[in-house]
Amino acid sequence: MPSVSFGSHVCQLHDGETVLDGLLRHGIPVAHACKAGSCGSCILRVVSGTIPDSAQSGLKDSWRAQGCFLPCVCRPVGDLALAEPGVGARAAARIASLRLLSADVIGVRIAPEQEFEYRPGQYLTLFATPTLARSYSIASLPSDGRIELHVRRTRNGLMSGWLFTEAQPGDPVQLQGPLGDCFYTCGNQDQPLLLAGTGTGLAPLYGVLRDALSSGHRGPISLFHGALGPAGLYLGDELRSLSSRYPNFTYTPTTDPIDRVVAAQVPKTTGYRAFVCGDPAVVQLLKRKIFLAGAAMREIHSDAFLPAVA
Ligand SMILES: Cc1cc2nc3c(=O)[nH]c(=O)nc-3n(C[C@H](O)[C@H](O)[C@H](O)COP(=O)(O)OP(=O)(O)OC[C@H]3O[C@@H](n4cnc5c(N)ncnc54)[C@H](O)[C@@H]3O)c2cc1C
Repeated sequence: MPSVSFGSHVCQLHDGETVLDGLLRHGIPVAHACKAGSCGSCILRVVSGTIPDSAQSGLKDSWRAQGCFLPCVCRPVGDLALAEPGVGARAAARIASLRLLSADVIGVRIAPEQEFEYRPGQYLTLFATPTLARSYSIASLPSDGRIELHVRRTRNGLMSGWLFTEAQPGDPVQLQGPLGDCFYTCGNQDQPLLLAGTGTGLAPLYGVLRDALSSGHRGPISLFHGALGPAGLYLGDELRSLSSRYPNFTYTPTTDPIDRVVAAQVPKTTGYRAFVCGDPAVVQLLKRKIFLAGAAMREIHSDAFLPAVA
């Protein structure tokens, strides 16, 4: 059975156990959320030993080169010595402002105190404390000067509860990332873009949209935002204002099933680039329907907002 050392702790893994589960089983505090290799909250660095390639899947090349990996999907065959991800992986930052975007969604603006490069629509991991970390998509553009996140209030939610009720401008936080490929690239500026998501799935879409518009995208851009009720359709005024300024941009807010609304308005997606974000079940459904309607899978970018697992 492989042994894992982390700081002053040493633990033996069970057969087939992930590094994260082994560390947590021994009471060693490690920040984590989705436990599925998706959110990046638990990243650690290997100092000695060999990790499977799959434990570095989706990480930036510079992180891979430093030995950073995802312990939640790492099942090593030999012993490992681990350390925190280290300099360059996390950036110090402060909450700059908090404003309600709807009764259940708060806009969190963050001022990094160290360089933090990102593409609008990617996601970062926000650390409120060394062990409370959650991933959030980036709604802002680097030129906005502040990183903006849209956080939905989750019942009994540790991070969203803190942001809604306790966090104050000036509070220190840490940022890790960014990760993900939900961002605009200028490749073909005439390509039609389809952006669809529910709830705070709007955050990355808003980033991608503003990035595309400010980059001079010429093709049609259709944004669909779904919510259970009208109160959930936040940022409606800003999006309507953008659609009146940019004739190639169409904004469709809806409280009907979003997959049906998208299919009715965009029955053929051949040649489209699509961005789909938010609730994991809706993301899966939309991806499938957009693919079956003609879009190439490589042109469908998505982020499923997987919840944290205890
Ligand atoms: C790549 C990625 C991007 C994300 N981007 C965003 C974003 O831009 N905006 C945003 O608001 N969230 C986003 N999330 C989700 C976010 O990371 C947190 O999971 C969410 O904010 C809840 O955290 P919390 O600490 O408030 O609640 P927790 O303390 O994690 O959860 C409290 C309780 O609620 C349950 N729970 C949490 N979420 C759900 C859910 N969706 N459905 C059902 N039960 C749930 C938990 O299992 C737990 O029992 C993203 C997630 C990922 C993986």
